[in-house]
Amino acid sequence: RSVVHWMRMCDLRLVDNRALSRASIEAKENNIPLVILFVVSPQDYIAHDRSARRIDFTLRNLEVLKTSLNEMNIPLYAITHSPRTSLPERVISFVQSVDATCLFANMEYEVDELRRDIKVCQLAKTNNIKTTFFHDKCIAEPGLCMTKDGRAYTVYSPYQRLWSTIVNGNLDTYMREAPPIAANSAEVMKDPTLSPLFEQPIPEFVGGFKLETNNKDVMTRVWPAGHDAAKEVVLSRFLRTKARASQLGEVDPLLEGAEESDRKSRLKEYGNARDRVDKDTTSRLSAYLAAGVISPRECVRATMELQKAGKVDTSRENGIGRWVQEIAWRDFYVSVLAYYPRVSMGRPFQEKMANVVWENNEEHLKAWQEGKTGVPIVDAAMRQLNSMGWMHNRMRMTVAMFLSKDLMLDWRLGERYFMQNLIDGDLASNNGGWQWSASTGVDPAPYFRLFNPYNQSTKGDPNGEYIRHFVPELKNVWGPDIHNPPAKLAEKLGYPLPIVKHHEVRERALRRYKNPGKE
Ligand code: FAD
Repeated sequence: RSVVHWMRMCDLRLVDNRALSRASIEAKENNIPLVILFVVSPQDYIAHDRSARRIDFTLRNLEVLKTSLNEMNIPLYAITHSPRTSLPERVISFVQSVDATCLFANMEYEVDELRRDIKVCQLAKTNNIKTTFFHDKCIAEPGLCMTKDGRAYTVYSPYQRLWSTIVNGNLDTYMREAPPIAANSAEVMKDPTLSPLFEQPIPEFVGGFKLETNNKDVMTRVWPAGHDAAKEVVLSRFLRTKARASQLGEVDPLLEGAEESDRKSRLKEYGNARDRVDKDTTSRLSAYLAAGVISPRECVRATMELQKAGKVDTSRENGIGRWVQEIAWRDFYVSVLAYYPRVSMGRPFQEKMANVVWENNEEHLKAWQEGKTGVPIVDAAMRQLNSMGWMHNRMRMTVAMFLSKDLMLDWRLGERYFMQNLIDGDLASNNGGWQWSASTGVDPAPYFRLFNPYNQSTKGDPNGEYIRHFVPELKNVWGPDIHNPPAKLAEKLGYPLPIVKHHEVRERALRRYKNPGKE
């Protein structure tokens, strides 16, 4: 007999993992082995526009996990399965093949995944297998922070206030670390049916998604895999609890020479400087949180430790308070996804916005995707996405507004392109961010709020360092010209002229958003 934990793309860790921890306890109590299953599902990846980077990151993390699990005598079975419609049957037959009667997993809240898991539960029941699912992705799971009349919030501020009250009032429940998992003893691993598969390699994912070798190298350096990397490199760098500047200088050229700011805690600066895209002021934990390589609880607990030690400014509008609010945004969008599943079916949250008239302009879409719009800040951001699979939040909003308002292209084209390229691609946050920017979602930017990309540029990148880094055509341009190069200069440097003029297209956007369905 054995106990199976089914690991998914969003909980790739051994530390502070609720379902895994509970599975381990169950195995120990019954003196039977714990077995971990991971299913690679190419059809799901295609259907959900999973980026090659995110898939590669998943496989790299599985390799790291496999090494740790080997030391603990815990077999990791990574199997590839298609078609996805029969995935539930495959999972159940796997559970039976290792003679298990209990299956543990953490919840995934997307519609396809929920439907799949319902089928798994039904099949499990008819086969006398007990299934137990846990809320683990969020600090406050969907359903916890509800309005007085029992509805899910569609406005962030009151949601966040309640989130903060509930979480801070019950730290022992919402911040508690799940007990560590135990190794399988040699005795319980005697069963010969488990051993041969123990050495099974992690499948190389083949298909249209394979990363080109040069990009794979960049990704491996910029986003090192594993919980230790998430904690020791990325989180501690942000909190500045350890001196890791040199390591980061190696992985991201933008951070070279960042020694001075490296002496300070980025968290401390976060409240005031998080929107500066030329400085490295945010945590860059999103890839790790999206893949569940580190738990959000562990990240917030670490900030609380600093708080206790009196090392950071704790005011709400500064540093830690502000950062924890961003973690609450993540929970907010998961709650929206769980309670308003239409947003994950390509529909706007605000139904009337389904009628907005979009342009159909392949050339503009291509220019946006390639970072060749002639608007330097937009191009720098898109090239950042294309080269490292990540983009600063302020830039995500800027390029999303540019696509959906200046170019008047359907926001779903942008949402899709982001998912296909981000290393941190996550349906709830990505959809939430896109619908916010396109003014179609919950708590959206009002439709008449159009970011002026040139103002975003002077605010976020006042000296043009970010632009010069990602747009080499402009690397020798200094002074205000960097934000909007004069036509003659742009032509000389081989940089495109703006494909639209912001002040001209602004009116078109206002008109069409004000009266969806009308030209
Ligand atoms: P930090 O500022 O250090 O924030 C810490 C963590 O809080 C982040 O890692 C993230 O998990 C969470 N967070 C921060 N801001 C937000 C937010 N606005 N919404 C939800 N969670 C947030 N985030 C993703 O994780 N995956 C996506 O696919 C994604 N797509 C986006 C698309 C658009 C158009 C927009 C506007 C935002 C999107 N975001 C997405 C949210 C946000 O931009 C990123 O989480 C953030 O830039 C990641 O950088 P960081 O880890 O340094 O963030």
